[in-house]
Amino acid sequence: MKTPSFNQFVERLRRQLACLSRKQVATVRDLAAAFAAHSLCLDTIEQHGRHHPGCPHCHGTCIYRHGYASGLQRYRCRDCRRTYNALTGTPLAHLRLRGKWLPYLECMLDSKTVRKAAETVAIHRNTSFRWRHRFLAGAQRKRPAQVRGIVEADETYLLESQKGSRNLTRPARHLGGVADTRGITKQHDCILVARDRAGNTLDWVTGRGPVSAYQAGHCLRPVLARDAVLVTDGAMAYQRFAQEAGIAHKPLNQRAGVRVDGPYHLQNVNGYHSRFKGWLARFRGVASRYLPNYLGWRRALDTHSIETPEQFLLAAIMRQPAASLH
Ligand SMILES: [Zn+2]
Repeated sequence: MKTPSFNQFVERLRRQLACLSRKQVATVRDLAAAFAAHSLCLDTIEQHGRHHPGCPHCHGTCIYRHGYASGLQRYRCRDCRRTYNALTGTPLAHLRLRGKWLPYLECMLDSKTVRKAAETVAIHRNTSFRWRHRFLAGAQRKRPAQVRGIVEADETYLLESQKGSRNLTRPARHLGGVADTRGITKQHDCILVARDRAGNTLDWVTGRGPVSAYQAGHCLRPVLARDAVLVTDGAMAYQRFAQEAGIAHKPLNQRAGVRVDGPYHLQNVNGYHSRFKGWLARFRGVASRYLPNYLGWRRALDTHSIETPEQFLLAAIMRQPAASLH
């Protein structure tokens, strides 16, 4: 709308608002806020679209604008002739109600439960659950490439959970989640966390039961910088992996009461474990298969790598570089 017509529109609106009840004014305000949230969402998506790595179908880079669809710029690839927009090939491709995405992501930054977030933005609980995991799939991929210097690595365990699953692959547990036997068993999911002194944090769900040397190596080897000194509790898995990979390793014999040795300790990674578990408690148990998503969510909050709903949205639609798609 051109400025003079817009000024007239505002003047007319002002006169009409004066005739409305407070409740009606609030309805108009909410309507305007919803429009603003919708266009901010589209702007954020388009901002990403302008920097995207190329055609999501064939990775071609010869592309041109090809009109608009559903409020988003459409592109066409000269190589494969197919069209796409900034959401094609992302977990958000076919999600509706875009006006509610940013308010929903605000709820996620506040670590609201599925039900609370659904109430706040007025969507169905099932939609809230689906959205949570679509948004987290992206956040989970946003992770540092390396940890360097003194790197604390330690694992923590959670009882395996099939929450939400219709077909349990084992007899149901009674008395709310207690393992049949004591200690770490195949009933526990192992979460390995590595954290350097700059706060760069990486996490992996290595599988059920104690971490093995192979798993420790598979996770840690590609991300340890050359200057890294790996600090662990001296478990055999780490000893073996560090020796085989020729990595500087500082094992602390915690069983013998050695918790600190000069600058070497595990306080940062253990603090991270306990913050993760304390935070997770609000969700009253999460299914094992969603653990990586929750780890990514916690990491984003803890390391402040995602601080605004817009950053959350961008992380969710960030495409993998073409090389890693194969
Ligand atoms: Zn193409």
